[in-house]
Amino acid sequence: MALRYRFTFIDDAPVPAVPRFHSCPVRQRDPDLEEQALSWQVACLPDRARRMREPPAPPAPNAGSVGHPEVCRRPCVHLARGACRLGSACGYCHLPHFRKENLDKMNRQVVQAMCEAQLLAAILPHLRRLTDGTEFHQTKSLVEVVERELALRRPCRASSVEDLKRLEKTLLRMSVSGLIGLMTSRRWKGPLPQVLQEAMSSLRKELALAYCSPVR
Ligand SMILES: [Zn+2]
Ligand SMILES: [Zn+2]
Repeated sequence: MALRYRFTFIDDAPVPAVPRFHSCPVRQRDPDLEEQALSWQVACLPDRARRMREPPAPPAPNAGSVGHPEVCRRPCVHLARGACRLGSACGYCHLPHFRKENLDKMNRQVVQAMCEAQLLAAILPHLRRLTDGTEFHQTKSLVEVVERELALRRPCRASSVEDLKRLEKTLLRMSVSGLIGLMTSRRWKGPLPQVLQEAMSSLRKELALAYCSPVR
């Protein structure tokens, strides 16, 4: 409320009258158009509901953080020590990582003892779980690469049930980047590591474009 000083009293300032608007003439209704508009609104509802549940990801602060926490690069050691002078151009992740993704010594031994087909078969369901339902084209190609590779190989060894259970617990905690890392280490022969690294790079570019993040 605006106040003004008048004579010796404090009084309300008169509110200027708001001019009245003339109403628009009623347009002729078209039942077909109304029906179309209604069905379009209904068709959009599931997508709108999903978008409301999942707020859009903000742009990544730097190139290495694109796709955090699933497909970003390793955490930046310079930032962990205090500051990273590369800033938005840094190729490592600048966002906080809380999951412990490295294999412990026992799991490393289990993985070492597994044949490639066994390891691919153990990783694939987790890769599918993490990428299922995402709208990014490149996540699909990532899964397809592993599926194709698995189809080419035959399991040649068998791990114990306990070993597999232990590994499974770790795989459940791992990100897409962590799982891909298990298939790009030096133990792998052939083109698989390079194909997977290229697919990851394309996925990061796709995500960077979608969220207007720095591209590397
Ligand atoms: Zn990250
Ligand atoms: Zn950095």
